[in-house]
This record gives sequence, structure tokens and C-alpha cells, in this order.
Amino acid sequence: MDRDTMGMDEPPESRPDTPANDTCPHCGAAVPDAAKGCRPLFVEVSFRQMSDRDVFSMHRLTVDAYALQHPDEYCKSAKSLAAHLTGLCWAFEYDGSPEVAKALKKWLDGNPGIDRLVPPESRGTGSIADVHGTQGSAEHIGAVRKWARSVWEAWAEHHDKARRWVEEAQR
Ligand SMILES: [Zn+2]
Repeated sequence: MDRDTMGMDEPPESRPDTPANDTCPHCGAAVPDAAKGCRPLFVEVSFRQMSDRDVFSMHRLTVDAYALQHPDEYCKSAKSLAAHLTGLCWAFEYDGSPEVAKALKKWLDGNPGIDRLVPPESRGTGSIADVHGTQGSAEHIGAVRKWARSVWEAWAEHHDKARRWVEEAQR
């Protein structure tokens, strides 16, 4: 029996489960549903990082970059914004030093007086979608670093502040 006699239309050649025809208003990622935004992509990337030891080390950088692209939701307090911004400073300017990480954690736990920073208009050239679309751990790591670097650069007007905070934490 061929299809014609069955009277059925052939399915479209390509019909992805989640067509990306919207964009996240915060980071510009192509997403299937603007209402949910890019959060489902972040959840899937995080799951992969948690379950694959080769990319686990990228999780903190991913969280910091993601939060700083979506500050209305993930940097509601001055402290959380400072935590994520100093996280990127630590990653890119302190090479992820364990001693500095420890000092930063202690500093934040001590509830230091922290100014509320105003997020920049532009928040980086990449998005979580760039990481979501990667194959293999090397590509994943490269995409996280490139995207997170673009977020760090986008926050340039607050670099001096972030550096002062990291220095304060180490005193
Ligand atoms: Zn987004």
C-alpha cells in the first residue's frame, strides 16, 4: 500500500520538537517560547554540567554569566549581583584561584556593605543558547568561556568595583 491510497499527507520533512521562533528579551537567545524565555536551556545545560565530569567545572562560570544577563531575576539583591560579578572577575582575572574563591565566599557570608550596581544596557554578545547547541566537552567549555567573557566585557563600567571587592575579600 502506498501513501496515496492511504489518503494521508506526508509529514513535513523537518519538524523539530521545539522550533526556536522567539527570542529571550534579556540575552537574545533563540527560544521556543518567549514566555518561558531561555530558562529551559539553562536548566538543560546545568543538568549536563552536573552529570558530566568533563564539563562540571564550567558550572559556576555558567551560573554567573547567566545571572548577569538576567539580573532582574537572578541578581535581585546587591549581594547576589556582587557575588556573580566577582565570580566572573575571579574566573578571568584570578584564573579561578581556590584561595580567592575561599576569600570571596567568606567576604560575602560576612554581609559586607555592598553598593547596588546598575546593570549595563548591553549584556554580552553570546547567550546560553551558544552553550546549549554544542557537541562534546571541548566545544562546551570553549562556548562557556567565550560567552562568559563577553558578559564580563559588557559589565566593563563596573570592573573597577568588582576588582575592589575581590581585593577587599582578600584582606
Ligand atoms: Zn535569556
